[in-house]
Amino acid sequence: MPLLVVKFGGTSVGSLDKIRRAAKRVGVEVARGYDVIVIVSAMSGKTNELVNWVGETSPLFDAREYDAVVSSGENVTAGLMALTLQEMDVPARSWQGWQVPVMTTSAHSAARIEDIPTENLNAKFDEGMRVAVVAGFQGISPEGRITTLGRGGSDTTAVAFAAAFGAERCDIYTDVDGVYTTDPRISEKARKLDKIAFEEMLELASLGAKVLQTRSVELAMRYKVKLRVLSSFDEQTETSGTYVCDEEEIMESNAVSGVAYSRDEAKMTLISVADRPGIAAAIFGPLADAGVNVDMIVQNISEEGRTDMTFSCPTDQVLRAEKALQGAKAEGSINYHDLVADQDVAKVSVVGIGMRSHAGVAAQMFHALHAEGINIKVITTSEIKISVLIDRKYMELAVQALHDAFELEKSA
Ligand code: ADP
Ligand code: ASP
Ligand code: MG
Repeated sequence: MPLLVVKFGGTSVGSLDKIRRAAKRVGVEVARGYDVIVIVSAMSGKTNELVNWVGETSPLFDAREYDAVVSSGENVTAGLMALTLQEMDVPARSWQGWQVPVMTTSAHSAARIEDIPTENLNAKFDEGMRVAVVAGFQGISPEGRITTLGRGGSDTTAVAFAAAFGAERCDIYTDVDGVYTTDPRISEKARKLDKIAFEEMLELASLGAKVLQTRSVELAMRYKVKLRVLSSFDEQTETSGTYVCDEEEIMESNAVSGVAYSRDEAKMTLISVADRPGIAAAIFGPLADAGVNVDMIVQNISEEGRTDMTFSCPTDQVLRAEKALQGAKAEGSINYHDLVADQDVAKVSVVGIGMRSHAGVAAQMFHALHAEGINIKVITTSEIKISVLIDRKYMELAVQALHDAFELEKSA
């Protein structure tokens, strides 16, 4: 039988009523003749609560136990969804990650899926099971411990199952009816896109648009999974939502297709480090070893052999970064006068494959920010994106100003 993978995010399974509504959607696909793998998230708010409980119990927690606790929210929804489907006379069974098994690396709290053997589920489909409800976000390490895939990881579970089982499509049901030109919660002018290119979605996701986890987009691109984002609350047809697809299928030709933001950024500046060959390696080596995800980097102009080095990283990694740099200073591999952390910054980015062929996008972006009196602290660019670090209090304003400046409310 043809197979679909459908994923329901936290708000789509946030109550028993919502689980019933989601189950009805699955029932429609079963009635159409599909076998379905349903990937479920924890009920909305549950994962945050579990993460907080871990932090309160043990500030420097053991990551294996973090995963044991934090993965549990999905187990509850998987069981409840299977029961709801059974009540509707749909032959359904729940599966936790280890039962499938979803085999991952042992990088706890940020594990990668390595393999999803299809035998166990396929044997049950052959016996008449029509729906496998799989707990998203979790897997099992080579050591036999429960792992999780990083926040938002159920998206990645869904795409990985679609790839492993050769599903006809992977539908991601969420609380918005597709991918927008920017977060519709920030700009009322945000416009829903019918299609978005993999490359653009990948950039938007990695720059903060949490509608899809970055890794899920990478997998969909690599394994050519037909991926769609749509609302679990509205009536849906084959053309609802947003399809994430190859560039060639996109007709729009705007220079910019979307604006993304990331609230949780910090800017760290090392004041007065020696400007000598190897200094960048001496600074960023220990940061990498400490697991700090450095994003933007700027080295200032050097004066009398000394320079300031600025970089950005997620706010929750500031302590780790400070510890690593103080350690390197104590060892004598680097020397600096001061280390200043600015935690009140945010990153705003514009993304578009059209940038490859349009000149002047950066100038237009900087002009729009200037017109609102917003100061830019750090800039980085790549082929299809430009990012700036600004004061966090201007983040919403910057997103709206850029959305206006690039006329994203209009389709090209
Ligand atoms: P789920 O719980 O279903 O996984 P998420 O909260 O992870 O849902 O992702 C959906 C949210 O992503 C939306 O509610 C929206 O606020 C946010 N979002 C950010 N950027 C975008 C965008 N460009 N298009 C659509 N949604 C976006
Ligand atoms: N429940 C997990 C989270 O909140 C995974 C997910 O919903 O995708 O991050
Ligand atoms: Mg999500």
